[in-house]
Amino acid sequence: MSKILTYLAVQDGKIKRASLEVLSHCRALAQEHGWTVESVLLHPDARSLATTAQQYGAETVYYMDHPQLQAHLNAPFLAALHAVITHANPHVVAFASSEAVKDMLGALAVRTQAAVLSDVASFHIIAGGVEAKRPVMASKLIARTQAQGARVLVSVRAGAYTAEEAPTEAALVPLPFTFDVDTLKQQVREVVQDALGTLDLSETQVVVAAGRGVKDEAGKALVTQLADTLGAAIGASRAVVESGLFPASAQVGQTGKVVSPDLYIAVGISGAIQHVAGMQNSRVIVAINKDGDAPIFNYATYGLVGDLYAVLPPLINEIKQVLPTTPE
Ligand SMILES: Cc1cc2nc3c(=O)[nH]c(=O)nc-3n(C[C@H](O)[C@H](O)[C@H](O)COP(=O)(O)OP(=O)(O)OC[C@H]3O[C@@H](n4cnc5c(N)ncnc54)[C@H](O)[C@@H]3O)c2cc1C
Repeated sequence: MSKILTYLAVQDGKIKRASLEVLSHCRALAQEHGWTVESVLLHPDARSLATTAQQYGAETVYYMDHPQLQAHLNAPFLAALHAVITHANPHVVAFASSEAVKDMLGALAVRTQAAVLSDVASFHIIAGGVEAKRPVMASKLIARTQAQGARVLVSVRAGAYTAEEAPTEAALVPLPFTFDVDTLKQQVREVVQDALGTLDLSETQVVVAAGRGVKDEAGKALVTQLADTLGAAIGASRAVVESGLFPASAQVGQTGKVVSPDLYIAVGISGAIQHVAGMQNSRVIVAINKDGDAPIFNYATYGLVGDLYAVLPPLINEIKQVLPTTPE
């Protein structure tokens, strides 16, 4: 029987939401085509994380637990994935798109003799391969691409699918991690959190993003307060990253991160196509802008025309009334 293997990336001791989204989609594809869906976990605590993979429908979970698999480094993760793919022999290997995955995909394709479709918005199985849709030219166009072959690697943007529980009695299969750690030329000493806090833009359900309308530290404090009240991650347009008000890690858009939270609040952002490319798949978009003709309102579910310095303080107070405790 043909099979799909999904790679479940781990961050802060939890399987990333984006990986569970990909697993849910692969489970649906497997059901549709009579395939099986399996998962792979690489982490020092992989065995205990496997129960989450079972909850989301993996039929078999391969895992390697080794201290070297705590923080991402290409060489050990490539070796581990190569070994799991050789062992499991899947036709399709699906990943949630991330910087780490982008970094590994080419080398993994060479080692496993696979074709690659990277950073796609959606994919499905066709005779002899995989067909995917990928936004191109700052999402102005959608390219339909196909990869044919005995093995296809595909990475999918966060938010493309919904993670849905579908508990299984998955077989848990430990595999040995045989990488020689003495050959490593780099080490991860520390993973540094940026100044905007610990919430990962691509993993949170709510994002509050600031644009050039946020002119100073007082504006930034308002955006931060709104984000803290909602338990949201903070995003930014390129304009305020270039001005130095927000770190590059917060940039959303064509040359920043692609996010698709349940709620995206764009504060003082005009809605340039390069920004929209990174957030237009958010489920609900709220735009706050003093210019009623700003293009962001074309994408917004709800729009608030007004000066953010006047709008945000009462809005934050109102939210605090209905949401008295800060969400986890
Ligand atoms: C190759 C390329 C790649 C790019 N990649 C990205 C990317 O990844 N991400 C990105 O964001 N941009 C990117 N850009 C830049 C993009 O084109 C825009 O310049 C940028 O998104 C504009 O940011 P902004 O909306 O914050 O600023 P502006 O376009 O200047 O908009 C500011 C908005 O704030 C409003 N405003 C002003 N004062 C207030 C106030 N007091 N209250 C309420 N509203 C107010 C204004 O009405 C205006 O609509 C890229 C550009 C290029 C050429």
